Amino acid sequence: MELYTVGGFNEVGKNMTAVDMGDDAVIFDAGVYLPAIIDLQEEEEQQVYSEKKLRSIGALPDDLILDRSGVRRKVRAILLGHAHLDHVGGAPYLGYRYNAPIVGTPFTTTILKKIMQDDKLQIPNQIKMVKPNSSFIVKGKKRNYEVEFINITHSTIQTSLMALHTPQGVILYANDFKLDNNPILGLPPNYQALKKIAKEGVKALIVDSLYSGAERKTPSEKIARALLEEVLMTIKNENSSIFVSTFSSHIARLKSIVDFAQKLNRKIYVLGRSMNKYISAAKEVGMCPFYNKVDIGSYRGQVQSILKKVEKNRRGSLVICTGHQGEPGSILDRLSRKQLPFQFKANDNIIFSSKTIPVPANMANKENMDKRLKKSGVRIFDNIHVSGHAGREDLRDLISLINPENIPLTVQ
Ligand SMILES: [Zn+2]
Repeated sequence: MELYTVGGFNEVGKNMTAVDMGDDAVIFDAGVYLPAIIDLQEEEEQQVYSEKKLRSIGALPDDLILDRSGVRRKVRAILLGHAHLDHVGGAPYLGYRYNAPIVGTPFTTTILKKIMQDDKLQIPNQIKMVKPNSSFIVKGKKRNYEVEFINITHSTIQTSLMALHTPQGVILYANDFKLDNNPILGLPPNYQALKKIAKEGVKALIVDSLYSGAERKTPSEKIARALLEEVLMTIKNENSSIFVSTFSSHIARLKSIVDFAQKLNRKIYVLGRSMNKYISAAKEVGMCPFYNKVDIGSYRGQVQSILKKVEKNRRGSLVICTGHQGEPGSILDRLSRKQLPFQFKANDNIIFSSKTIPVPANMANKENMDKRLKKSGVRIFDNIHVSGHAGREDLRDLISLINPENIPLTVQ
């Protein structure tokens, strides 16, 4: 058995790992590298790029290695662990290269389909849904392989650890995860299933290492909810507008924001195309309990008419919007440039339920946007957030639970 660390082992993004089992192979994840795309968007406005262009800027996993090693023609399934773009965003560009179905949970595959619809991308692969805590059977040349989609917690819903059962033992793919026994939405980690595969014998654990250097246990999402409650329910805000920005894919966080906005008796508006994409996907899979409590504005006309309403009723509205990374073209970015029909005033509140991703493009975008926003005298509440990634002590807990024979790393 051979593992190919195709992408995501030396960078935060473009995740892809291939497992060659002899007659058959599978691929875990097919992501994009987002900072490369953000750089590109600034140059050329939002548009859809070709596979060739994305490869040339290093935004896609370099899966041509699988052609050179003869693995590509043996790939029997592309297995997606969760709905973040650095795990699914490459599939619309690379899927066609493999004669294999693309498999994921209902939320993950619904997001994949929506990305392809929005960007008018088509691939011939079948897309198969697997419920959390159930299995998919990969059909090989001479035998079949079971892949368990084991429910785990992360910063988006229906995230799975994927356990591939091979004759030599289990390969456990654990990108990304945290161990949260009190998720706000969705199921807690399925420790029973993890104990079971540990008994069977784990040959290799491929694991989220983003915060392996952080000596901590990552706190539960309930702590992020408490931080939000603290800010939203205790600041003096009766006469001012409240804007909250967070990750569009973080449905549990959005639920907490909506819950507190309701307690404040404010009308809740959600603005931005990616917000609409993730919220409607969550609704389609029955995981958006707040869908009927919000008004969503996605396209230009809708956004403008909602912001005009908010301008007239600042103290009665709460706006959830895109732009927590200062992304060019996002709602907050355009508001900060006075390109939309709402003007921030002194003492308006802007809450970032997020952390700026520490790459140069994001740091610069966010800093410049903050400067523009502060000129209006707004109050900024930054980093009202808890990470979705395991810290060192979570990793220690997972490793001692799983007891893997190997943990593959790449050496630079
Ligand atoms: Zn993720």
